[in-house]
Amino acid sequence: MGNLVAIVGRPNVGKSTLFNRLTQSRQAIVNEQAGTTRDRQYGKSEWVGKEFSVVDTGGWVVNSDDIFEEEIRKQVVLAIEEADVILFVVDVMNGVTDLDMDVANILRRSKTPVIVVANKTDNNMLQYNAAEFYSLGLGDPYCISAMSGSGTGELLDCILSKFRKEASEILDEDIPRFAVVGRPNVGKSSIVNAFIGEERNIVTEIAGTTRDSIYTRYNKFGFDFYLVDTAGIRKKNKVTEDLEYYSVIRSIRSIENADVCILMLDATRGIEGQDLNIFSLIQRNQKGLVVVVNKWDLVEVKTDAVMKGYEDAIRNRLAPFTDFPIIFTSALTKQRIFRVLETATEVYKARTTKISTARLNEEMLPLIEAYPPPSNKGKYIKIKYVTQLPNTRIPSFVFFANLPQYVKEPYKRFLENKIRERWNLSGTPINIFIRQK
Ligand code: GDP
Ligand code: GDP
Repeated sequence: MGNLVAIVGRPNVGKSTLFNRLTQSRQAIVNEQAGTTRDRQYGKSEWVGKEFSVVDTGGWVVNSDDIFEEEIRKQVVLAIEEADVILFVVDVMNGVTDLDMDVANILRRSKTPVIVVANKTDNNMLQYNAAEFYSLGLGDPYCISAMSGSGTGELLDCILSKFRKEASEILDEDIPRFAVVGRPNVGKSSIVNAFIGEERNIVTEIAGTTRDSIYTRYNKFGFDFYLVDTAGIRKKNKVTEDLEYYSVIRSIRSIENADVCILMLDATRGIEGQDLNIFSLIQRNQKGLVVVVNKWDLVEVKTDAVMKGYEDAIRNRLAPFTDFPIIFTSALTKQRIFRVLETATEVYKARTTKISTARLNEEMLPLIEAYPPPSNKGKYIKIKYVTQLPNTRIPSFVFFANLPQYVKEPYKRFLENKIRERWNLSGTPINIFIRQK
């Protein structure tokens, strides 16, 4: 879990074709709800049972002539910072271009593993052309045709061989992992510093990954958790910091590696596209959520009614998932900082909630009886029994029905809401399945 592959290269070499090939089959499964995230650029891939994420960083590049090379340079810097493996795509039909050389020069200086992908090798003759890509100084090129798929199996084997160790090999599985996410300047570094303070002895950087440490163990004041990717949050990069998509890509890794995400919003600004993109990533990865409205010190009138107004506005924007805690903080004055950690811990517990089958049926069946699923084509739909599945990532409930295919989304939402009213599942997504009894 949590490995990220970035595709870079100049335009028209076949990056998005390769992206589609790598993510195609998975996309349909993972991407059930259409999010606001630009799906074209971020997807999941799977090979011999290993799942990983793929980003086509080129999809974010603005295609205008004058800023063009600068944009590609940023794209590459971003990939170096964020990815575990970089696929540098070149075009066998064109050979090495100046732009390819520029990209190679940056990539050679990075420690991130790079695979040169000689795309458009549609036939064996073209394979001989690929030899010239040795001059990029990045090792053996992999000849593929993104269009037909030939060569992609070997490429995938190579990608997997370069992944860093699984987090599960390094970390204690029983300790929650929190990530602080949000767009630039909302106060992520400030709040992390407020948690950690200058007391370096509170935290232990966890080594063992091939990159900079991306987990920090926090163990004090009755809390024990890992903060994901704090090194990255605190060490800013001026090149990429100001970019619109930066915070989204930055977030992918943190979100995937976390159990609970602390999504920070700025009290002095409304919810914008970037906030929604990050929120949608949290949802798609089925992570716990705590929303933090930061810079509360800058809000002049802080009555209960004002707070309620903020809460309603946030839940409206993030609907239909609205059952999550919202906390108003100031990283500057440290107001309610520890409340954030307490709440994240509660959400983590909510994620691991186990409800006995007896209690579930006792509470839910009378409700279902009083308000059954609407009949379909004159057929009555009966739900007989409900149980929680064991060993799932998030609480998952199965309702057994005579005609499961006729139980529609609104009714499933009704069931979800009733479960949420009865048990504290605030901040955690849950699954509702209807199956044949
Ligand atoms: P990007 O700009 O790097 O994302 O490139 P695209 O994926 O949009 O591809 C650019 C063009 O190259 C499109 O017309 C693709 O159909 C074509 N293309 C992509 N992969 C291959 C391939 O393996 N063989 C051939 N012949 N054409 C390809
Ligand atoms: P990041 O980009 O999300 O890591 O944001 P930073 O932590 O670097 O904060 C961006 C700016 O907002 C800095 O100038 C901070 O001093 C300021 N800032 C952060 N939190 C607060 C807060 O709670 N109140 C006020 N007034 N300013 C804050």
